[in-house]
Amino acid sequence: MIQRDPATSAGSLCVQYLSAMSRKPHSEDPLNAHLARLLERIGEVSRAMRWEEATGSGLSPLQLRILGFVADHAGQSVGVARLAEELQVTPPTVSDSVKLLVDRGLLARKSDPHDGRSHALRLTVAGRKQLPATEPFAAAIAELPLSERETLLLALMRLLETLLANGDVQVQRMCWTCAHYQGDRHGKHHCELLGKELALAELRTDCAEHEARMTL
Ligand code: SF4
Repeated sequence: MIQRDPATSAGSLCVQYLSAMSRKPHSEDPLNAHLARLLERIGEVSRAMRWEEATGSGLSPLQLRILGFVADHAGQSVGVARLAEELQVTPPTVSDSVKLLVDRGLLARKSDPHDGRSHALRLTVAGRKQLPATEPFAAAIAELPLSERETLLLALMRLLETLLANGDVQVQRMCWTCAHYQGDRHGKHHCELLGKELALAELRTDCAEHEARMTL
């Protein structure tokens, strides 16, 4: 299973929502416009890297995303409906990709312990071998000084929160939007559920224990 550090996850999350951003009118502010273009460029690079990866494996980028999602949520109930919601793709499109992955022996269906009428997906040994060894930007991010990585993480989390509030992102389980989060979103972070202070790197953007706050 891929181990993803929070900074890397935040980087890939920003890429995930660039298409939503591109629908917005360009800002008049030169700095904002520059940042938006830069994020868009990074999104293009990420997509190109994913395509290259997919071509090498004989899978589509969506199929690789499905394998990655199932791997990252092992032990949870992951089926077609959840994949469609989380990956923001239509259920028939996900269903076709899942069928191909099952036919190729990369995913297996098993009875969903949470819903006897449904099937959950799990990664097979062959499927695990298809997972990319690293995230597209892992090496580049690692070259940034720690202070810049921390600033980037906070900025991307705020960006993600705004996209969520604007309805551009459908599902996100981040600390910022969690009922259990107590802190100032800058230097002090506490999870009431876990009963501990969270270091910056421990902030989550896809937490299984997340409980949505009533208001964002
Ligand atoms: S339950 Fe998860 S998302 Fe919520 S504050 Fe704790 S670590 Fe963050």
